[in-house]
Amino acid sequence: MKVLVVGSGGREHALVWKLLQSPKVNYIYCAPGNGGIKQMAECVDIEADDIEGLCRFAKKQRIDLTVVGPELPLSLGIVDAFEKEGLRIFGPRKNAAILESSKAFAKDFMQKYGIPTAKYNTYEDPDKAKEDIGSFGLPVVIKADGLAAGKGVIIANTKEEALNAIDTMMTDKHFGEAGNKVVIEEFIQGKEASILAFVDGKTAVPMVSAQDYKRVFDDDKGLNTGGMGAISPVPHYDEKVEADVMQRIIKPTVEAMNKENRPYKGVLYFGLMITNEGPKVIEYNCRFGDPETEAVLLRLESDLVEIMEAVIEERLHEVEIKWSSNAAMCVVMASGGYPGSFRKGYEINGLEKEEQGIIFHAGTKYIDGKTVTNGGRVLVFGALGRTLEEARAIVYGDMEKVSFTDCHYRRDIGLVK
Ligand code: ATP
Repeated sequence: MKVLVVGSGGREHALVWKLLQSPKVNYIYCAPGNGGIKQMAECVDIEADDIEGLCRFAKKQRIDLTVVGPELPLSLGIVDAFEKEGLRIFGPRKNAAILESSKAFAKDFMQKYGIPTAKYNTYEDPDKAKEDIGSFGLPVVIKADGLAAGKGVIIANTKEEALNAIDTMMTDKHFGEAGNKVVIEEFIQGKEASILAFVDGKTAVPMVSAQDYKRVFDDDKGLNTGGMGAISPVPHYDEKVEADVMQRIIKPTVEAMNKENRPYKGVLYFGLMITNEGPKVIEYNCRFGDPETEAVLLRLESDLVEIMEAVIEERLHEVEIKWSSNAAMCVVMASGGYPGSFRKGYEINGLEKEEQGIIFHAGTKYIDGKTVTNGGRVLVFGALGRTLEEARAIVYGDMEKVSFTDCHYRRDIGLVK
């Protein structure tokens, strides 16, 4: 079968790598792909949000299965467009992807169906938002309603910071249309976990637990990023919490989406806070998380194509999904300055040396026989080990062999504190 993967990050490299292990796959395209994906798939020069272009390509090449990585094409309706043309595609339709593309929708939805989440209010008028800000306590969390590439959340420690955040989003339109509405919510304390689940409209099968490290520097210091590393499994995500999450969050979410006539198919990501009052949802994402996917897919032993086909054909209950009991982790090597501004085009040295784990490419480009940096998050180093410590030793050992000008990465991923 011919497969098309949409996207260009470490997540998509991991997806291509895993899909290629399926005996069902003869050929993989990736649009637009990156320097690492190019070594295992045919990269096609079509942007991930060019839905018409992707649709035309899939029809012309008679693609049997399209897998969408990023949220933007999903929120723009790529699945609806492909289905209209009779093309098989893995992911939620636009009316279900709204769980990620509108935080206000997601919060109202959780409130309506009693799914545990932080207390909140939604505002379209900045003055009203400012008037109410005192009622949330401190710190307070201010979120742009729409998609903002993981940057639309501000945790304000003082009232002044909170008022500035409202202005930045609603008046200065720092995130464009995404900030027309904001969600203001109480700050909840606890330990985070990311649970990705395969969902076929009715049945949800959670994957093994993962946790990402959002802050740029060690000890969770510095700005939020797209994610600097991930581990799987998560030590504090035990069987009791898992059962609780299934009962109180995952099942009710899937059932409620059906009641809303927005059946959910694809991967649904639950960003959770495990609090003293039990697990609460911080956010939904309508796709594989990045970099959690790079860690989680290392542990997947089953055929990913079979699982995706079962999701599309609504028979996920028939499939047994097997996971390695080993631990996995991954660490991101980023460009100097990231998550702020950074330069691109530096040659990456050491990639020819044999790695013990695996290196997924994110922001890289392959030109004139060289791999150069082409984004903020550049490479994702992953490994499996009998223990997290073993995986850690492999990942950091591999990272010492690779470098580029001004590269930086966290040294504390997977340290149990
Ligand atoms: P992503 O990059 O995962 O898509 P996002 O921009 O959609 O992120 P959220 O996941 O909603 O944003 O929030 C980002 C981070 O802010 C969370 O991982 C969590 O650490 C913190 N956070 C968000 N909401 C709360 C809250 N109510 N209480 C405490 N921390 C929170």
